[in-house]
Amino acid sequence: MNITLHEIAIRDIVNGYTDNQEEGVLGYEKKLNIRPKYQREFVYKDRQRNAVIETIRQNFPLNVMYWMKSGDMFEILDGQQRTVSICQYVNGEYAIGDRAWYNLTNDEREQILNYKCMVYFCEGTDSEKLAWFRIINTAGERLTEQELRNAIYTGPWLTDAKRHFSKTNCAAYNLAKDYVNGSPIRQDFLETAINWFGKGHINEYMSKHQHEESANELWLYFCAVIEWVKAVFPAYRREMKGLPWGELYNEHGKKKLPSASDLESRVKELMEDDDVTKKSGIYQYLITGDEKHLNIRAFTESQKRKAFEKQNGKCSICEETFKIDDMEGDHVTPWSEGGKTQPDNLQMLCKDCNRRKGKG
Ligand SMILES: [Zn+2]
Repeated sequence: MNITLHEIAIRDIVNGYTDNQEEGVLGYEKKLNIRPKYQREFVYKDRQRNAVIETIRQNFPLNVMYWMKSGDMFEILDGQQRTVSICQYVNGEYAIGDRAWYNLTNDEREQILNYKCMVYFCEGTDSEKLAWFRIINTAGERLTEQELRNAIYTGPWLTDAKRHFSKTNCAAYNLAKDYVNGSPIRQDFLETAINWFGKGHINEYMSKHQHEESANELWLYFCAVIEWVKAVFPAYRREMKGLPWGELYNEHGKKKLPSASDLESRVKELMEDDDVTKKSGIYQYLITGDEKHLNIRAFTESQKRKAFEKQNGKCSICEETFKIDDMEGDHVTPWSEGGKTQPDNLQMLCKDCNRRKGKG
């Protein structure tokens, strides 16, 4: 990792400044990507923005900024919002009180244009950059993990992927907003899709495809996942939002499942079952068959104490005597066979017998 410190005059940073809304913000003779395409919108408050300009006008130091160098181009990793504040002020886009760029004196303008920002240029391998950026990503302009990755794995693949996944009202959002958490401009949809398709290996996936022209493979996969969910569970409930649908699709997408109407009546039944304490787990349970997703209600301490006293401290299976702390509450009829979490279905077992009986 090669990191070098440079002094860059504001005159040079604002040279070639352009702002094309979602197409991104450029400066430094268009060699600096201030805000890449489809990245989140500028969010500085007036007070913070004004503080940047006041700092410069008084010749106080601004915090150091970080630019990532790749070829002849730079991308801002830290300092994006300060840089946008500076460019917008010099471009006459806002005033501080009654002082706008157009009514500053020439001397005042020159002072600002000659002010030097301290900038670290960073060059290195992708994994070196990612490790370093994660460390410096602590100040007010915090980036999400996926925004950090996007700063590293730039290239045609990412540009194409962002078209589907990263714009306000993008296709991925319109297709999957009821099933996926987060926001496209904070890159949550892109992150989710790569996480599912790459089976948790997001960096590896992005690195492998970085120089490809098209992200269609990822997009078509994402569509297939969501279409599968809609076909398996056509009746929507809010508990379906944010589930690991891609993981379920990867594992069980080819499995023959009961019909949509049979599944729907199971969903209904489980939604009404008071012993199912994690309702969002119903979908995972119905696909995988694993009861752990349901968080079946456990017996209370007082129910267990009563049963323990009734059994005179003896395990119902081996009939040995135990302390209550060495025993566990067991469903006589397992929940999966219709047994409820109620006192008349409770027996206290020693830990060994309970393990042998299986989770009850
Ligand atoms: Zn026992």
